[in-house]
Amino acid sequence: MDAIVAKLAARWPDARCELNHTSAYELLCATILAAQSTDRLVNTVTPALFTHWPDARALAAAPPDEVERAVHSTGFFRMKARHLLGMAQALVERHGGEVPADMESLCALPGVARKTANVVLGTVFGKDEGVVVDTHVTRLSQRLGLTRENDPTKIEKDLMAVLPRDQWRTFADRLIWHGRRVCFAKQPACGLCDLAPLCPSADTPGREGEEMKGEDVKREKGKGKGKGKAEAKTETKTGKGKANAKAKTKA
Ligand code: SF4
Repeated sequence: MDAIVAKLAARWPDARCELNHTSAYELLCATILAAQSTDRLVNTVTPALFTHWPDARALAAAPPDEVERAVHSTGFFRMKARHLLGMAQALVERHGGEVPADMESLCALPGVARKTANVVLGTVFGKDEGVVVDTHVTRLSQRLGLTRENDPTKIEKDLMAVLPRDQWRTFADRLIWHGRRVCFAKQPACGLCDLAPLCPSADTPGREGEEMKGEDVKREKGKGKGKGKAEAKTETKTGKGKANAKAKTKA
């Protein structure tokens, strides 16, 4: 584990959340929108969203159909608009319009489960309350042999058990970057992977000879034909505010 942490740190020293934001409110909105979408796509809709509704009070009073139109391109737009409005209204009613800085309060907000709460707590508040488990962290943790679980909550527990607490946030950020740039879901670029000597899934049968894809690999190989394919995130939430996050892997 120490070697994996060290190699990821050396490879991605500046890894960070790639959702554009300037406040906890904006990151909370962006992370809700990132479910079943990509950070890149979310970053194309949030500037207008934050211009129209710059804080929780403004968003809480927004017409639902306008919010739906604003987030339409990110997919699942009705559910996401409902979550955004519910979240904003809850922030106004329970927290004076501010984003709370604790796990319990965050997870009680509509559309917010542990993954989203971990993103906000770690990125904005600098708190290591847990490990962000999205589709990349799920896939890479399994490939690297760090977990045998499929359930995000159980994967998070496995990772928290083997990682020093002060590494929870940075480890997830770096693993996500590695998943987006090297260890792709369908065609992991094991030949370019710093973790290969430590990875039990390196160059497993069925992956050999596969064409490498992705922005980072393009740069490393000096070619210009690859196409980065970011994966959809999979945190969802249903019912009356209880988390039901599931991540899926195509590995
Ligand atoms: S060696 Fe291959 S499967 Fe293992 S982490 Fe690297 S890219 Fe992923």
